[in-house]
Amino acid sequence: NNHNLFAALRAAFPANLDEVAIETDNALAYTWRDLERGTAMMANLLASLKLPAGARIAVHVDKSVEALMLYLATLRAGYVFLPLNPAYQSAELDYFVGNAAPAVLVCASKNQDWVGNIAGQAGTSHVFTLNDDRTGTLLEHAARCSDRHQVAERGEGDLAVILYTSGTTGRSKGAMLSHGNMLSNARVLKDYWGWRPGDVLMHVLPTFHIHGLFVAVHGALLNGSKMIWLARFAPRPVLQKLPEATVFMGVPTMYVRLLADAALDHEVARNVRLFVSGSAPLLIDSFKEWQSRTGHTILERYGMSETVMLTSNPCAPDPRHGMQSERRGGSVGFPLPGVSLRLHDGAGMAVPAGEIGGIEVKGPNVFAGYWQMPEQTKKEFTPDGYFKTGDVGRIDQDGYLSIVGRSKDVIISGGFNVYPAEIETFINALEGVDESAVVGVPDADFGEIGVALVIAKPGAELDPDQILRALKGMLANFKIPKRCHVVVELPRNAMGKVQKNLLRTQFQY
Ligand code: ATP
Ligand code: MG
Repeated sequence: NNHNLFAALRAAFPANLDEVAIETDNALAYTWRDLERGTAMMANLLASLKLPAGARIAVHVDKSVEALMLYLATLRAGYVFLPLNPAYQSAELDYFVGNAAPAVLVCASKNQDWVGNIAGQAGTSHVFTLNDDRTGTLLEHAARCSDRHQVAERGEGDLAVILYTSGTTGRSKGAMLSHGNMLSNARVLKDYWGWRPGDVLMHVLPTFHIHGLFVAVHGALLNGSKMIWLARFAPRPVLQKLPEATVFMGVPTMYVRLLADAALDHEVARNVRLFVSGSAPLLIDSFKEWQSRTGHTILERYGMSETVMLTSNPCAPDPRHGMQSERRGGSVGFPLPGVSLRLHDGAGMAVPAGEIGGIEVKGPNVFAGYWQMPEQTKKEFTPDGYFKTGDVGRIDQDGYLSIVGRSKDVIISGGFNVYPAEIETFINALEGVDESAVVGVPDADFGEIGVALVIAKPGAELDPDQILRALKGMLANFKIPKRCHVVVELPRNAMGKVQKNLLRTQFQY
């Protein structure tokens, strides 16, 4: 049988194709039949180009339902999808397009000149345009193609997507994900998050990243669920539509912004059964405040481009961890069924329970390697086949995993390891502190020292020296940052991740 991910998603469409599948914020309604026909036409267009096997379809467009269809059509036709953040400019696109050498590049009409040049230099043979208002040459060509298309046969291990990592710790790497990686993960999540008939997903995330494209879209489609589709996140439109949704997925900054809106209350959230957060750490304050403002407990989960989802707090009690198991703030929950996860130290030894170690994982969801980086790929896998995530965590006695930071962000000060997330938790709990980031910068005496960047709550006055003094009463001296600065904001990327590499450069002497 066919392991093409699209075949599984298509099989989950409801029997009545005239039902609405996607409702947009500009009042359009797409039926399941529209998705079926649209993806067939685009798949036929791709097939008509007679591309070589494994050809990459690079997509640099704004979020739209047609762009989603292009993703599905690429799967359907058996080619490799390569999504790119539309905010990327020429230097970035040059790198990605040069690196991935796509056969087809789809971009917005307004960028056609400069993107076309880059494509030309990379040997890309076809450039199409696609805009977020249903215009562009891609749709013009697809309109002339048949609306019937037989889904291409693909095996579990066949490449489906090259997903570039967010570039938070350095240059983005292309994670090669197979049909089987994504389908196995989507099936596990369908069950673990209790997707049920009648669920409606509010989709507010960007679609060039794993969270919006895979976790959210695959979840809804595999459940035959309607999506309420917002082209971009803004608190007001989200709150207006929230009563129609049962599932909401967002990054922590979205939750922070929703909490800042007085209209967030029990009433608007009354029909939601599941709020999911991920891509970056959710502040414990946001977690608690969300409970009191809406009556809902946010479910935090953890994953990455290379592995799709790895761990999750339980939606309902997880029998593997006892019928008392529940969602906990500050934790990313348990390894998902099928994922084996362990913590190892730098020497490759298992760390004792309760201690901090590097997170290593194995499972049907784990990618095959980085695109054209065999050396890097080899370095990131252990001899027994575990992928070294680059994240550092701790598992408590109940089996809950907490992320304490990335191994690249661990500060080694005077020979001791200092885990930024631990220090940040203490700083965030201080009076008047909204948020903080601790980074290591080079130091002649200590090798590295910690620098704390702290944001004040609205209206609060913070004194950096007082913050450092307060920490001294709570933490061992080697963990106390040597410097502290009050700042107005932290640099974040499109997914709301704090870019610590920028802070390290900015705050070193
Ligand atoms: P790069 O690998 O290029 O440096 P990146 O790791 O940010 O960028 P992604 O694959 O988009 O790229 O993000 C995965 C990372 O996001 C994880 O390795 C982890 O550090 C972080 N992350 C995801 N979910 C959570 C979470 N719930 N809590 C804390 N961190 C999270
Ligand atoms: Mg990463």
